[in-house]
Amino acid sequence: MIQITLPLGFLGTVYREIRQALVDMGEMFDLLGQPPEVADKPGARALKVSGGAVTFDDVAFGYDPERAILKGISLRVGAGETVAIVGPTGAGKSTIGRLLFRFYDVTGGALRIDGQDVRDVTLDSLHAAIGVVPQDTVLFNDTIGYNIAYGRPGATRAEVEAAARAARIHDFIAALPQGYDTQVGERGLKLSGGEKQRVGIARTILKDPPILLLDEATSALDTQTERSIQGELEAMGQGRTVLVIAHRLSTVVRADRIVVLEDGRIVEEGHHDALLARGGKYAAMWMRQGQGADG
Ligand code: ADP
Repeated sequence: MIQITLPLGFLGTVYREIRQALVDMGEMFDLLGQPPEVADKPGARALKVSGGAVTFDDVAFGYDPERAILKGISLRVGAGETVAIVGPTGAGKSTIGRLLFRFYDVTGGALRIDGQDVRDVTLDSLHAAIGVVPQDTVLFNDTIGYNIAYGRPGATRAEVEAAARAARIHDFIAALPQGYDTQVGERGLKLSGGEKQRVGIARTILKDPPILLLDEATSALDTQTERSIQGELEAMGQGRTVLVIAHRLSTVVRADRIVVLEDGRIVEEGHHDALLARGGKYAAMWMRQGQGADG
């Protein structure tokens, strides 16, 4: 356990910023411990994952009591299913991700994984079950090998390489003069947004969690890079339960189900084609984003 002594005000700021951005949450927990609001219940048990089904049962939540953000969300993401959450900025999409990771507790209803309320299980076991691929992967000032191995401490070099291959970053690394021992981060090699995202994918492949939370990139990647990474993200999602927080629509077309969130409520739900045919909110968003012409 790392002991750090910092002014509390500073920690508060870090928590807020990190929670806001959903940036590599596991790392933050390791560095700073739990946010004060949530803690293991006395006698909390480890989460037992059977398939990784995620259920929101009439979930209500507000960051402060006067302002409801989620107003009764009922949603089931079946084991192995991919569900994308779309909706205008401020609808509450990222908040859903934060509740799944239990950054905050729901104020009404319940959130369950394979039937177990997330408030009843240990945070360690909850975080071990969920892999997060954030918008912007945080790199440590260490080697690129270490940065991938972080997904599963103790992983062998062969396992790290296999994960890097699956994330299609191995060839890039192998071509560096110092290969996996290349220093990255602020004091080392700077990686592009796409390369960092691939490191994040490799890390998550190594962690091998049954549930994935993808906080889709907004502006971190250009369209071409995003497209090329999409395949790796989809491959990683095979056999896992995936919740995609989608800030744009181009990547949700192949989701098993799309949920449209507006002002803290689910207003539409279905497959891309069905929602387009319906001519409702999703269809209007799709037209506005010009995706119809984009292919
Ligand atoms: P989305 O991801 O759909 O853009 P968010 O879940 O980030 O929406 O935010 C939903 C609402 O909650 C917004 O009105 C936002 O201002 C508010 N909000 C988000 N984070 C916080 C916070 N830490 N404290 C107070 N309000 C917040």
